[in-house]
Amino acid sequence: MKVMKFGGTSVGSAQRMKNVADIIPKEGKNIIVLSAMSGTTNSLLEISDYLHKRNPDGANDTINTLELKYFREIEELFETREYKIQTLEVIKSHFDYIRSFTKKVFTLFEEKVIVAQGELLSTLLFSNYLKEAGYNIVLLPALEFMRINKNAEPDQNYIREHLNALVEEHKEADLYMTQGFICLNAYGEIDNLQRGGSDYTASLIGAALKADEIQIWTDIDGMHNNDPRVVDNTSPVSFLNFDEAAELAYFGAKILHPTCILPAKLEKIPVRLLNTMQPEAKGTTISNKTEKHKIKAVAAKENITAIRIKSGRMLLAYGFLRKVFEIFESYRTAIDMVCTSEVGISMTIDNNSHLKEIIDELKKIGTVSVDHDMVIICVVGDLAWDNIGFEARVVEALKDIPVRMISYGGSNHNISLLVKGADKKRSLVALSEHLFKNN
Ligand code: ADP
Ligand code: ASP
Ligand code: MG
Repeated sequence: MKVMKFGGTSVGSAQRMKNVADIIPKEGKNIIVLSAMSGTTNSLLEISDYLHKRNPDGANDTINTLELKYFREIEELFETREYKIQTLEVIKSHFDYIRSFTKKVFTLFEEKVIVAQGELLSTLLFSNYLKEAGYNIVLLPALEFMRINKNAEPDQNYIREHLNALVEEHKEADLYMTQGFICLNAYGEIDNLQRGGSDYTASLIGAALKADEIQIWTDIDGMHNNDPRVVDNTSPVSFLNFDEAAELAYFGAKILHPTCILPAKLEKIPVRLLNTMQPEAKGTTISNKTEKHKIKAVAAKENITAIRIKSGRMLLAYGFLRKVFEIFESYRTAIDMVCTSEVGISMTIDNNSHLKEIIDELKKIGTVSVDHDMVIICVVGDLAWDNIGFEARVVEALKDIPVRMISYGGSNHNISLLVKGADKKRSLVALSEHLFKNN
């Protein structure tokens, strides 16, 4: 059994849905996970924004435009009148439901209900299309098994039990489909796994059902060795191990949601990144195999703040690092990079919501300075310390760019460098030139 997740662009129009259907096997009890059609989640957020601003007319305009798009897709997607009418009615009822919020008090809770409509609409459309095309498919509602706990972490036991029970209840099906992204929270309210979270749904399902493989189908032929939105002539990486992939996803490779590797890694389920528009391309396979002596890829994470604390009290003292880290912990702020010297520590964070409080606390134990708008450049591959010269190649590539921090040796598979936001592009380009030009 495989989990096959299709992202927004892959199901972005009736024509794309038809192309995706050609990739889906009619048998094998695979599970299809769908995102919302591309643009829909953004439109639903825009509608919510109008409603937060108490502008029902603005919301209604956006609702009507979005509804018309769906009507057009239905017209193009289905062959038979029966399926057209049946689907149109359900889609209309979803839009009427969205419209009903223009008359109610609007809070973050209602926003999550509205945003969830994107995946409900896409799965409704596509599962009906597959039914019409003769697939023996059952739609499993994500809200009946996908759940997060009070810490917004997936409730793995709940997911496993409820999903297995649902599948068992529909043993007769040859294919299953469900919504990515959406879930219930610990209070039983509609919630979600954050933007791009359908990848996470796919890996949670893969882990819960012990799938043979998790396939993430998207609009590019796998993980590229650099960010294709920033650098020209990037190329796909054939193999990554779980840690390399997690690192790249966390440090900005948008093709994968950062959290989605862990469930697959724990259950040792290979993850394949594949291209809907080029299904024969081999893409990227992520597994626990490591390829020796290779630098694989580069990614960049923006909007990073660097904090340096210097203190004479650190000299020959123990317990200073603990004091510093406890301050970040008390404000639930994660640290990404750390560099230490005998008299100071530099750290980076990507969440500034408690920056002021953290700095106030740090100032009680040392002298503090802050650099805003920085970028972490993360180079991933076999960077074990006995691989002579690899870190030198990375540093050499950036020799003309001011580097604020370097972190190496924390793991065997990455080296991270902190540069100014304005130097992001030239850092990425320089790294591609130095590391991958002759690959
Ligand atoms: P989906 O809608 O299928 O989830 P996403 O837009 O989330 O697709 O992810 C695919 C996009 O990720 C690609 O179109 C590409 O622009 C971007 N991307 C960023 N970094 C990388 C990378 N290193 N390799 C491949 N794609 C990347
Ligand atoms: N539809 C959601 C988003 O746009 C989830 C996803 O596509 O993965 O973020
Ligand atoms: Mg995505």
